[in-house]
Amino acid sequence: MVYPPNYNVTMAERLIPAADLSEQISTAGKEASGTGNMKLSLNGALTIGTLDGANVEIREHVGADTFFLFGLTAEEVVERRKDAHHARHAIMDSQKLQDVLQMLAEGRFSPDQPDRYHGVVDRVWHHDYFLVASDFASYDEAQGKVAEAFRNADDWARKAARNTARMGYFSSDRAVRGYMKEIWSTDSAL
Ligand SMILES: *Cc1c(COP(=O)(O)O)cnc(C)c1O
Repeated sequence: MVYPPNYNVTMAERLIPAADLSEQISTAGKEASGTGNMKLSLNGALTIGTLDGANVEIREHVGADTFFLFGLTAEEVVERRKDAHHARHAIMDSQKLQDVLQMLAEGRFSPDQPDRYHGVVDRVWHHDYFLVASDFASYDEAQGKVAEAFRNADDWARKAARNTARMGYFSSDRAVRGYMKEIWSTDSAL
């Protein structure tokens, strides 16, 4: 995993065609995934994602077999928030998540500054607005499926080709024609 600084269009032009997996992990209902997810999917990356924003339409078009779905639905998110202790309950239900938070708290990933991620750990325990604790187990399971699928390189390549072909629906020509007909009630000048 890399965190490239100063993400911009020039960098996107290099990163997007190179990506094998597109992580579109926003909490369902936030409509966070708009077009970035489409660019990655059009360029051959398979998606691991929640049922949020354009992920929903992408999954409908590429098919469930090339979309690694995880997480709560928007309705489940609303329901889950009613439990004031949703994060604590999710953490208690997952030994793996407890281990991850413990490692972060101990500074395992920041030995030069052991308290660097205390803020992150505190937020997950006490202010988990985006329900990352509640989505963790499902995300982890989906990543297991990704890892298994990626080991079969030929099959992954087939999936990527099929995924790209099925993304044709999202072409701007089709979208603009749709707008012309349904919204602008106009004909093409050409
Ligand atoms: C497409 C794009 C975005 C917007 O991405 P979303 O996932 O729709 O929010 C932002 N920055 C760059 C450089 C892009 O290419």
